[in-house]
Amino acid sequence: MVGLAAEEGFYGLEERIAPVRARQAASSRSTENEGGSMSQLQSSWEMHQPSVAYLPDTDMETVAASTSLPDPAGDFDRNVPRICGVCGDRATGFHFNAMTCEGCKGFFRRSMKRKAMFTCPFNGDCKITKDNRRHCQACRLKRCVDIGMMKEFILTDEEVQRKREMILKRKEEEALKESLKPKLSEEQQKVIDILLEAHHKTYDPTYADFTKFRPPVRSNASGRGAARSSSILTQDLSSEDSTDLFGSEAFGTFPEAMEPQMFSNLVLSEENDESSSMNIDFSHLSMLPHLADLVSYSIQKVIGFAKMIPGFRDLAAEDQIALLKSSAIEVIMLRSNQSFTLEDMTWTCGSNDFKYRISDVTQAGHSMDLLEPLVKFQVGLKKLNLHEEEHVLLMAICILSPDRPGVQDTSLVESLQDRLSEILQTYIRCRHPPPGSRLLYAKMIQKLADLRSLNEEHSKQYRCLSFQPEHSMQLTPLVLEVFGNEIS
Ligand SMILES: [Zn+2]
Ligand SMILES: [Zn+2]
Repeated sequence: MVGLAAEEGFYGLEERIAPVRARQAASSRSTENEGGSMSQLQSSWEMHQPSVAYLPDTDMETVAASTSLPDPAGDFDRNVPRICGVCGDRATGFHFNAMTCEGCKGFFRRSMKRKAMFTCPFNGDCKITKDNRRHCQACRLKRCVDIGMMKEFILTDEEVQRKREMILKRKEEEALKESLKPKLSEEQQKVIDILLEAHHKTYDPTYADFTKFRPPVRSNASGRGAARSSSILTQDLSSEDSTDLFGSEAFGTFPEAMEPQMFSNLVLSEENDESSSMNIDFSHLSMLPHLADLVSYSIQKVIGFAKMIPGFRDLAAEDQIALLKSSAIEVIMLRSNQSFTLEDMTWTCGSNDFKYRISDVTQAGHSMDLLEPLVKFQVGLKKLNLHEEEHVLLMAICILSPDRPGVQDTSLVESLQDRLSEILQTYIRCRHPPPGSRLLYAKMIQKLADLRSLNEEHSKQYRCLSFQPEHSMQLTPLVLEVFGNEIS
């Protein structure tokens, strides 16, 4: 095929002008109105016919054989007007394999379809110009052929028809694909809107209410293991190397090798013979009043949020209570992710007073058995970069778990939860772009599983703490009601 020879000959040139060529081919396609778009063969072939139209006096074989051309860069400048190779009029693109005007394009097509035979009334060497191009059809057609126009590129009526059908079919296929794409229904979108509003009503990102709590008291007792070590821990966690280990890839799981040194040794080095929660020096729980108020406040907000979840209030009161009691701490952990920052591994709720480090929580009676996996959880969740829509859906799904202890109408709770998971999955599929959406739903469900173990560890430590009247008296009635009151 002549195109291949030309391609080889023009290789260097082709590379240099490729962008211009592509643009020309595109414009040629758009002005080719007889068959809609060109065939692929035609357009790709044209891509490899860079200069025939510009070198009207050179025949194809000469051009193809030559390996170098006079510097054509200037001629191919985008700003240089494109000239019809037949008559010199303004060209509209490549037509039937040569750069021509619309007039010569139509003339060539008509002539070929009619299989017209023209005879020159003059000497057979008329010079064709824009103004005289109608005077001699024979020389005009000869010129067309000379510059490379080929009848093979003219579509037959059947081809035109087939092309039209193909375009129509492709459009139909696209419409079908579009209709099969998962879409959030109006109702699902409404649920999301309700949950977003519920969250906005119950989560104040200015944390203005925190000043109403009993004030935080941070003891600087340097001899206390938990406080001292956890600040080292915080530094460790915020350094680049170790944060990578929290990557979402690992689902927030520590590589086994690093766990002992990082946590057990650093934090729990004082006594290892007893359960670590027993290592807490309960006499110095200076942060307990403040954090108890904070948790109590958060429980209220979680209740407020839950009540706005569509369907929640249709549940029996006993089931509402059972769900809230068991999920409250998990939802608090989830929502606290909004204030958690990877920079220094703290929960930053406004001013410095309300910036909570791991050491602050240990001063409220919790040990690293809870805090290590909790921080790991926060880091992993943060790195999922959830949309707010996903964040609120996850909280709602967490609350509406049918397998919580004491739930009577499990099937109703299950149907409510199913509906929410359906919405979450659809949301991720149509609104969360890759790569963030990759396995996102599975990762979120894994977070719910992590929360179960955190919940369990929290209960254990809470029970320990609430056994002691001097500490349980620091708690609020709501906390005692929700988490249990071991004394009474
Ligand atoms: Zn022309
Ligand atoms: Zn003539």
